[in-house]
Amino acid sequence: MSILIFADQTQGKIKKAALEAVQYGSKIAAQLGTTATALVLGPADDTELAALGNYGATKVLHAADARLHEVESTVYTKIITEAAAKENAIVVIFPHNFDGKAIAPRVAARLKAGLVAGAVSYPDTSNGFVVKKSVFSGKAFANINIVSEKKVISLIPNTYPAVAGSGTATVEAFAPAINDADFKVKVVKVETVSGDIPLTEAEIIVSGGRGMKGPENWGMLEDLAKALGAATASSRPVADSGWRPHHEHVGQTGLTVRPNLYIAIGISGAIQHLAGVNGSKVIVVVNKDPEAPFFKAADYGIVGDAFEVVPKLTEAVKAFKG
Ligand code: FAD
Repeated sequence: MSILIFADQTQGKIKKAALEAVQYGSKIAAQLGTTATALVLGPADDTELAALGNYGATKVLHAADARLHEVESTVYTKIITEAAAKENAIVVIFPHNFDGKAIAPRVAARLKAGLVAGAVSYPDTSNGFVVKKSVFSGKAFANINIVSEKKVISLIPNTYPAVAGSGTATVEAFAPAINDADFKVKVVKVETVSGDIPLTEAEIIVSGGRGMKGPENWGMLEDLAKALGAATASSRPVADSGWRPHHEHVGQTGLTVRPNLYIAIGISGAIQHLAGVNGSKVIVVVNKDPEAPFFKAADYGIVGDAFEVVPKLTEAVKAFKG
């Protein structure tokens, strides 16, 4: 018996959300008296693989096959299912990011396992295997008892920040039984259009809404984001209007983000938007309407015109950083 954690990587580096999942899985392994194995697919740096020991994995399975460089859900599902059988995994854990969300349910179906998608707690094993998850756009929590023998959990990023310890892991090469016909989708090109920092990994996010009036005003937000080392995001109408690409919109129908700092500029704070951002550690709202609902969810609020406030904020950040 073991715990298997899908540790996804990008450009050979293990994602922050995956480190959190490894740490989470390792603690569950300790709770159940077993060990944690991290699974890495695609080429990855040796140091990155070995470092997974610092987050509690005792073993790292690495399928270095270059064809796995980009995520392909069907092939990844096949491989993770094979690894789960090989490791006799009782629990399989994913980060609840784009890839985890796409693959976890498929793996659960293959393993005939119960699934908790979007977990925000460790399992309570005092009476079953009860995992908490947020429901109704973050308005409530549900405690789900996974009664099947096998279990799949995806962990919401930033629920438990990863803290490196001093463990060691053995790295084992893994050659899954796949062939070219298993690849149903071929990634031909990857374009990064939202700056260098992926939104789900960002510690700081500067986000704009319809109050920004138009795409021509985004430079102002980008300046602030650059000064802070932040990523940029938007509300959904902004993406619907074509001002920003859709993969930048956060909320119920977009990304769930949990940065340390979320700065919302000209966004009203509709429940569907809050659903994607209410896990942020600190929320700062800039809105000219003092009655904007977002102020109720804010830690700090600035009532004012974004076109006056934002350049001053940027100047202040630059002056502070020297
Ligand atoms: P608005 O509601 O138009 O608000 C603009 C704000 O800017 C106002 O508060 C205004 O006071 C302020 N403002 C205007 N001018 C300035 C200025 N010069 N300076 C400062 N402030 C100014 N929305 C999402 O964001 N994400 C989702 O995932 C999402 N999913 C949805 C799913 C469903 C099923 C539905 C029905 C809706 C969804 N929505 C989502 C839409 C959501 O309900 C809101 O309509 C949307 O979030 C509003 O976007 P906004 O705040 O940018 O625009």
